[in-house]
Amino acid sequence: LREKALEKAEQDAVTADGERIQVFANIGGLKDIETALANGAEGVGLFRTEFLYLENDHWPTEEEQFDAYRKALEAFGDKPVVIRTLDIGGDKDLPYAELPEEENPFLGHRAIRFCLSNPEIFKTQLRALLRAGVYGDLWMMFPMVENVSEIQEAKSLLDECRQELDQEGIPTADSIKVGIMVEVPAAAIGADLLAGEVDFMSIGTNDLTQYTLAADRGNEQVSHLYDAAHPAVLRLVRQTCEAARKRGIIAGMCGELAGDPEMAEVLIGLGLHELSMSAGAIPVVKEQVRRTQTEEARHLADRVLELDSPQKVRQTAQKG
Ligand code: PEP
Ligand code: MG
Repeated sequence: LREKALEKAEQDAVTADGERIQVFANIGGLKDIETALANGAEGVGLFRTEFLYLENDHWPTEEEQFDAYRKALEAFGDKPVVIRTLDIGGDKDLPYAELPEEENPFLGHRAIRFCLSNPEIFKTQLRALLRAGVYGDLWMMFPMVENVSEIQEAKSLLDECRQELDQEGIPTADSIKVGIMVEVPAAAIGADLLAGEVDFMSIGTNDLTQYTLAADRGNEQVSHLYDAAHPAVLRLVRQTCEAARKRGIIAGMCGELAGDPEMAEVLIGLGLHELSMSAGAIPVVKEQVRRTQTEEARHLADRVLELDSPQKVRQTAQKG
């Protein structure tokens, strides 16, 4: 399968009955771009920007960020690039930021929460993104969103940045899409409410699984419980896809589950049209997409949602 998949890595992923599924790469820095393109990425579904902050001894400047975002956008030409704003906190610490210690960092002051309470740091990134958007097809994404007002606040800071740049005579792109990650159960359960505020949603199963199952994604003692194929997680995926469909916006997935070839049919059946994964998984997932009939995939998804364990889901998915 792998060899055949590699031969066709460059081709689009279209199901046997003609439905196009976009297969994107997750990247964690400019170093990953080449491998993503070589494996047939049709764009970037998740550009984690933390490297800019983690590999530095200071808050990255607007110019430093602009430079990196522009390079990524230019490398992908007219292909979409989803750049996620800073997702710091949780397990990711920044020595120079002197963040106060938290008892439960994963339930704490991370990602969009941190950005909204540090608007100057956030605005530096937003300005860099607005400027870089001129050089490609930029989709901007906010992590860890759990309510509508966070989106509204982030968008109003974005407007503020756009106005400031206009006044300074610096060009920005009008075409930038704004979206959120759905990685907190509240966002999935309330996806119909959040969907009205955004152009797209992307499901982050790594965090969604840890929060839904109350199992720390990095704790080996509970790793037997941590499985994104848990029916409860998949029900939230379906709910999110349904909300997106009703609103006419795109629902994608950029957590690890998206790169699991054995789950591809289930994911298509649940209503996903965009899957983003580490580059190495792209060719094989594309090949799985080509073998999938969407009608059968929907039946399979209906069936697995009624099962009572991730193990049974995986067994059933494997048989197809
Ligand atoms: C996720 O939570 O699924 C995700 C893609 O983001 P990260 O792994 O960076 O938390
Ligand atoms: Mg996450």
